[in-house]
Parts: sequence; structure tokens; C-alpha cells
Amino acid sequence: MEKYWRIPNPIKPLFKKELEPFPSTKFFDQLSFIGNPNVGCFVLETSEGIIMIDCMEPQNQYVEMIEKGFSDLDLDIKDLKVILITHGHGDHYGKADYFREKYGCKLYISKIDYEYALQDYRSPVGVLSFEINDYLDDMDVFKLGDTQVTCVMTPGHTPGCLSYIFPVTDEGVKHMVGIWGGTGIPRDPGLINDYLNSIRRFTRICDEMGCDVEISSHPFVNNGINRLEIIRNITDGVHNPFVVGKAGYQYTMKGFEKMCLESMEN
Ligand SMILES: [Zn+2]
Repeated sequence: MEKYWRIPNPIKPLFKKELEPFPSTKFFDQLSFIGNPNVGCFVLETSEGIIMIDCMEPQNQYVEMIEKGFSDLDLDIKDLKVILITHGHGDHYGKADYFREKYGCKLYISKIDYEYALQDYRSPVGVLSFEINDYLDDMDVFKLGDTQVTCVMTPGHTPGCLSYIFPVTDEGVKHMVGIWGGTGIPRDPGLINDYLNSIRRFTRICDEMGCDVEISSHPFVNNGINRLEIIRNITDGVHNPFVVGKAGYQYTMKGFEKMCLESMEN
């Protein structure tokens, strides 16, 4: 059963009901999910405010989903200090400027992907129109309060895609989360080679840093919604399904590598 969760599934669901928001769920002592089965974002609490990783799509319904999500999680959105954006696609940077203007948070992305996003024809609202507070680069360690997020440049899905690694606890027990920033395998032959190199390097870095928790901002990829459902009904003695162990994490990343290699053969 658990192995099934570790095999990435890149097929995007298109059912309308799957775009309904899933109840916002805290699944580690500091980490919560807001979103639907197609796309979500992560809320990371630190001693000096909140980091949000990605902010979904730019349409108003997603802004409302995030604001309601904070309130459902009993968090004050005025504590939102930072949005770390994985990459320059509209379903990840969403309406980031709205949150900055309304709540004063700062926005971060890689310089390469900011420039990429300025011209991204796939953005559902046209091109990106907002400024970024600062750029993140390879192996930068972003600090807020007691929390450190390691930023790894993983070009492939987009030219300047960032993947993040950060610690959490589950009922006080320490774990290390790895979030692979870009999901879909690119068709562009140049980018697909980058994707393969990035997944191999990120897998190695995650091994060195002891990543044992696997999450994705596209829950359809990693059976995320079923896992969150388990968390919502968890009882004593039931294992947190996002803790896959160090070997399990490596297994998941090998799944992405395998998908990439298969895609290169076709
Ligand atoms: Zn993307």
C-alpha cells in the first residue's frame, strides 16, 4: 500500500469535482496544506511568522481559498511574511502580488524563472506583472526565525525551477521535507536533459540532508489527498503517511528519474 504512494503519477485529473477545495489540513506540527487535488500550497509556521510555498492559480477563487484556509487553520494571515515560489508557472505564483499588497509579505523566486515568467505564454492571466523582492539562488539557505529552507536550483520543468528542503516535526519528532519544485517532464530536448541532471542531483542532496518526508504541490502526483484524508482521521498508532523514510524518499525520486528516462526514449 505504502509503495503505491511512492510512485509518482503524472496524469492530471480533469474532473471538475476535483477542483473543489480540500479541507485545509495541518499535517506536521508546523506544516499545513491548502488547495485542491490538482494544485495546492504549503503553509510553514516559524518563530517569526509564516512562510507560504507557492500560492496556486491567479484567479480570485484561489485567493479566497488561501484566505479561508488560513482562517480554517486558525492562523492569522497577517503573520504571512514570505512567499517562496517554486517556479514561474501561473499555477505556482498565482496572485502573489495581491498577498504582498494586502498583507505586506515578501516574494521570492529564482532570477531565471522570474524572467521566464515575464514571458510565459502559458500563464492563465497573460504575463506576470509584478516585481519580486529578492531572488533565490542555488544552495541559498533562506532563514525566517528558527526555520531554514535550503533552496536547490533544479532546472528542467522550467529553466530556473527551485526545489526546497526544510525541517519539520511530527508530534515533536524531527523530519526533513523535500519538495520537488517542478512536476511535469518537459518536451524540449534541452530542458529534458536538465531535468534528468537535476533530479539526480536533488536526489543526492536529499539523501545527504536526510529527507524522509515527501510532499508535492500537485497532490494528484503523490496521492496527496488520500494521505491528507488519513491525517484528518488519524488515531494513535497510525503512521503519518507523508513520512516515507529516507529509503522511501529515494524511491520516489527514482520514480521521477524513471519517468524522465522513459519520456526520453519516446
Ligand atoms: Zn509548472
